[in-house]
Amino acid sequence: MALAPSLARDLILLGAPGAGKGTQAQRLAARFGIPQISTGDMLRAARREGTVLGKRAEEFMNKGQLVPDEVVIGLVEERLGREDAALGFILDGFPRTVPQADALTTLLHKLGRDNLRVIDVQVPESVLIDRLGGRLSCPADGASYHLTLAPPAKPGVCDTCGSTLITRADDKPEAIQQRLAEYHGKTAPLVEHYRQAGILRSVDGVGDLEVVLGRIVSALSS
Ligand code: AMP
Repeated sequence: MALAPSLARDLILLGAPGAGKGTQAQRLAARFGIPQISTGDMLRAARREGTVLGKRAEEFMNKGQLVPDEVVIGLVEERLGREDAALGFILDGFPRTVPQADALTTLLHKLGRDNLRVIDVQVPESVLIDRLGGRLSCPADGASYHLTLAPPAKPGVCDTCGSTLITRADDKPEAIQQRLAEYHGKTAPLVEHYRQAGILRSVDGVGDLEVVLGRIVSALSS
């Protein structure tokens, strides 16, 4: 399905951990030809590289807590200024707090961009817990699988790069509870924030990946 270029724009995917933001952001990015910008992926890369920022972020991430606002805001400011984001971008996992949303508004204003759209991917809590509980991740390329819902072709091995799959520290049970609590306390209020701004559409995130993608595309066309 080719998409009209007008659908390529500045986009935020909101949703709880496990709502499928990363998977859908990847697909939308490929269709629209604009970058997926995932603060989670950026922080994990910094952690892998052992940078000062990565080390600072690690203690929060492993516990399922949000990394301090100023750390992620700095990362996003730098990333949005790069050339490949000039025609649009898909933010996945940012903003997650009201101060982050305010910083983004200020930044987009400074850049003269006023075509932000927000998609809220809605998934019931019981489904989120099932999805997060069985998640397997590739430490090399970031691909996500699920023990039963989306298993790799060969158990424990990444389909695309052959690396051994892991359970992320933040996909362990205590961290999952903490991530959901962080979402309800700090991120969920952004739904109302963007609804009031008139730029938010909610989409049912339960179902086949292609079906959910179709719902997002329809919401963006409306
Ligand atoms: P994700 O892959 O988006 O679920 O992010 C994994 C972890 O990275 C989160 O649990 C947080 O610890 C951290 N993180 C990612 N994005 C943000 C953000 N926008 N604000 C604060 N922490 C973040």
